Amino acid sequence: MKNHKPFKTTKSNKKKNSLTKKYQPKNYQYYLFDLDNTLIDTKIYTIIYQPILTMIQKKKSLPLTQLHHKAALLKIKKNASGNYDTGHLCKSFNLLPEYYHILKQHLKKNPTLKQHVLHLFKSLNQQHKTIGIVSNSMTKTIQLFLKTYNLTKYVTFIYTQENAKLQKSHPFFWKKLSKSHHLKPSQTIIIGDNPKDDFMLPQRLGFHTFLIMNDADLLKIK
Ligand SMILES: [Mg+2]
Repeated sequence: MKNHKPFKTTKSNKKKNSLTKKYQPKNYQYYLFDLDNTLIDTKIYTIIYQPILTMIQKKKSLPLTQLHHKAALLKIKKNASGNYDTGHLCKSFNLLPEYYHILKQHLKKNPTLKQHVLHLFKSLNQQHKTIGIVSNSMTKTIQLFLKTYNLTKYVTFIYTQENAKLQKSHPFFWKKLSKSHHLKPSQTIIIGDNPKDDFMLPQRLGFHTFLIMNDADLLKIK
């Protein structure tokens, strides 16, 4: 891949790296939210894990050992708890409709939206702010969550690794995002729970950032 130049780390940006993690109220125009553990509780992925594995085994007539073997061949990564990303797994097995069917069913029984999200989105919308979702999740997954919780009307755009062809941990993800949506980093705040991807990196690139440490942090956003 071509080695694209990321944003320059200027002196003033370096200075910003030492900013506290407190919310800095400013007249931002763009409020860009991470999805997992910021807007939704990721417990849902643990809940659907076993049903998804069972579905794949059934649909593909694969014993569990062979499923693991195939997943290894397909280079499906595991998370810190040793679980596959089930969306990625189903995509690789061409079982995305089945994945969304299971996710939808379980979302009905297990509400996963974080407590203050709806109120916050309504309030930002009333202030004519632009809300975006910036995530490594699949676009369709984000759309499903937004639709389930009646948030679609508040969100102007979704930008994911499918758009950037890169993950958020890559500086060029953010450069492509800015270009696609004509963002000015100085007018934009990135809100998320990952200290590196949602906080340090975008801050180094000149964005304002707010690291979500707990559910109540969303109440601080103005
Ligand atoms: Mg997250």
